[in-house]
Amino acid sequence: MDKIVQIYDKRVLLLDNSIEEETLPDPDLSDVWVVNHHSPSKVKVFLKKIIRSENLKVYLKPVFLQREFKKGYEYFRENLYIEELCDGYIENMQMQEKVQLLDRVNYFVQKYAENRGHKQLSGDEAILQSSFDYYYTRQKSIIPLKSRNSLSGYTHPRIEAHFFSIENADKYSRVLLKGAFSENLLDREFIDTLHLCHHCGGGFLNYREICPKCKSHNLKMIPLIHHFRCAYIGPKTDFLYKDQLICPKCSSLLLNPGVDYDSPGSTFICKNTSCNNQFQRPPILVSCVDCETDQSPHELVVRKVYKYSFTEKGLQHFLSLD
Ligand SMILES: [Zn+2]
Ligand SMILES: [Zn+2]
Ligand SMILES: [Zn+2]
Repeated sequence: MDKIVQIYDKRVLLLDNSIEEETLPDPDLSDVWVVNHHSPSKVKVFLKKIIRSENLKVYLKPVFLQREFKKGYEYFRENLYIEELCDGYIENMQMQEKVQLLDRVNYFVQKYAENRGHKQLSGDEAILQSSFDYYYTRQKSIIPLKSRNSLSGYTHPRIEAHFFSIENADKYSRVLLKGAFSENLLDREFIDTLHLCHHCGGGFLNYREICPKCKSHNLKMIPLIHHFRCAYIGPKTDFLYKDQLICPKCSSLLLNPGVDYDSPGSTFICKNTSCNNQFQRPPILVSCVDCETDQSPHELVVRKVYKYSFTEKGLQHFLSLD
């Protein structure tokens, strides 16, 4: 069962049953929620449910994970970042460290909870409004995080929690933020540049050197050798004779790199037996791990990653909705 304990003047709800049964508790019964469940995937589902709630008292509720459970959560790679879906960790129920946050959220909820709801918000507006309420009360910017589990390699966990597939989460959270930026509700700051699959937007890409003739990427790279005295240049394999380097043109023995010879680069041999093409500069073909589309590097989609914060116009817009 979920249990309420009193710590200082705060009523702390220890979440156990609610997480197991994926039900949201009554937000009026306690001041703060603390996760008391070992399964990170269940916790994740539950935290996303909180974020998706239309009730300001629910989606703004201060929610903490217990530091004591952290190691267990992190054992599951795919559940990294659950702390980004709530207010992070608390150690030994040290609630006094969180009092400022609790009071700030409580003040905001008291002020706005009753007045919201006159205005019917569309799906996107509702997501922006609840995101604003959260980031405003937490005094945070909307910062993207690097993630192997997102499509592009970056994620906005809290915004993406509103969408149900990894593709939609990536696409619509970006559209949402971009829209708010173009309406001057958000300001943005450049963080990173991504190169993504032009077909699916995936960022997990395999760059391969290929044979320009048959497109095979089963190539062998051989260093070139340049014999100074006779100016002959050829693959190292042409020089090798019983562990020694002998110039195939002038038959001299090559002893000292830098004095007798150097290596001006490499040559490639296609290992496709029906091709055996030899060439200097292999083109690059990029293969998407997710959708297996092959593409040239210039066909990749270049995307900028930004961190967002609310503008003065944004503050006024989202605060005056009451
Ligand atoms: Zn792809
Ligand atoms: Zn080939
Ligand atoms: Zn030579």
